[in-house]
Formats: sequence, C-alpha cells, structure tokens
Amino acid sequence: MTGEAVLHQVLERLACDSTTDAFFSADEVADWPSGTLTALIDCGLLQQATPALVIECHGCEARCAMPVEVTAGDAVRPARLRIICDRREDMGPIKVDPARLERWRITGEALASAVARWLGARSPTQSPARRDLWKLSVAGAESRTRVLDLSTEGVPRLTIGDQSIELRDLLEWKSGQVRFASQRMKRFLQQVGDGKETTEARRARVAARKAELIAAGDRSFIKTIAAEENLSETRVKKLLEPPKRPVGSWGGLVASSNPPDSPKKKAKS
Ligand SMILES: [Zn+2]
Repeated sequence: MTGEAVLHQVLERLACDSTTDAFFSADEVADWPSGTLTALIDCGLLQQATPALVIECHGCEARCAMPVEVTAGDAVRPARLRIICDRREDMGPIKVDPARLERWRITGEALASAVARWLGARSPTQSPARRDLWKLSVAGAESRTRVLDLSTEGVPRLTIGDQSIELRDLLEWKSGQVRFASQRMKRFLQQVGDGKETTEARRARVAARKAELIAAGDRSFIKTIAAEENLSETRVKKLLEPPKRPVGSWGGLVASSNPPDSPKKKAKS
C-alpha cells in the first residue's frame, strides 16, 4: 500500500458514512508505509481517538470483532487486557497488546479545517441543515468573497456554483507528505470565474442558502449569511429582495399560470 493509496482510503472512509467519524485501527495502520500516519496527523486529517473497546480476535480463525476485557493492575501485576473468545471451547483468554487498542480518526470537521487552512479561508461553518456540508469563505478577485461548499457526501468535494472538484484531485502525496495542489485549485477557481459571479447567480445562491437555514430553524439567517459571505446585513437583505416586477403584476395576488417574469429555463447550457 502506498502513502497515496492510504490518503485516498482516509478520504473514502469519511465519505462512506459522512454522518459519523471514520476510524483506523492500530492493526490497519501497522500496514501503512512508515511515516504515513505522522504525515496524516501533521496535516490535520487524522487525530488520535479514544482507545477501541472492541478489536479483531487473533486467537482463532474466525477473526471476529471481540470486546476487550480489562483487569486492573495492582502492586504486583500491571493492568492486563484480554479477549475471551467464544468461538472455540478450548480457547483460554487471549492476551492483548495495549498498542492494538490505539486508533485514529478523521472527522468532517478536521477535513474542513485542513482544507480551510490550505485555501487560506476563514474558519469553516458547518451547515445547520446537513452534517456533511461546510461553507468555506475565500477571498476572490476585487476583494469579493467566494463561498465554497465542502461536502463529504459520496466523495469529499468542493463545489462552487454548479462546478465541483474532488478533494482527491486536490491532495497530492509528495515526498511522504500531503500537499495541497494550489495551482490546480487556482485553475478550478478561474474556470468557474473567480470573483466574477453575476448578481443573478449570487441572488439565487443566497436565496437557496436562506431556504436551507430556515429549514434548519435559523431565525437569524440574515446575520448568518452576512457572516458567511462577508457582506453587510443590509446588502444581504437587498440580495434577498424579490426582483422588481412590472407594475400591475402584483405577484401572488393575481392568479396566473404563466407570470410574464417567470425565470425561463436555459435552452442551452
Ligand atoms: Zn476468536
């Protein structure tokens, strides 16, 4: 297994159930190339977790997960860890090396913080509606702020507008270290038009965010959006105002199956 394969596995395991943390046991880590664990801890992706209470039984062929029993130490003997295997009757208690209980984890928050550092973004804010979604604000052109979505659902990816890039394409394994592919990120931002979001697109995005926050019960959504977008609350309110309608339309008061200013679907994209 290469360091790069380990890095990809770490990202995949977080995505496989994005609502919980993903753990790596001491047995697994023992198979990683030397220095890989340290590199993953140093870049902030992995952190040491509380010891495992259940580990794989090495006593019999079943190799099933068994709870570890702890016998407290006394003046004469140190604490002992053992598994009582119930798969075979002739099996006595199996001694367990305490080092085997060590484990490491990656959390969505750890990933979001690491990516924010690499991007030079402000601290990520977790979506109140979705545990697997973070908002990252980065400075764009002409001192405008761009907000990127970091999602760990399916595969970890960064999304801006309708464009997204997978994190495994942005993280490289070089000389035993995790490196952020800044140039690739720069190209991605240029592709999506860094700092060139149209007011219309911005309105749509802010309105979608408002709906999301309301659904999550955030009553001070104006304040939340202002903080995320690095805008004044007045500006956010302006963006959320409905677009000006022709005089006499009266919005919802006049029943109309096809209002003249309804947004038309783009024929080409
Ligand atoms: Zn067993």
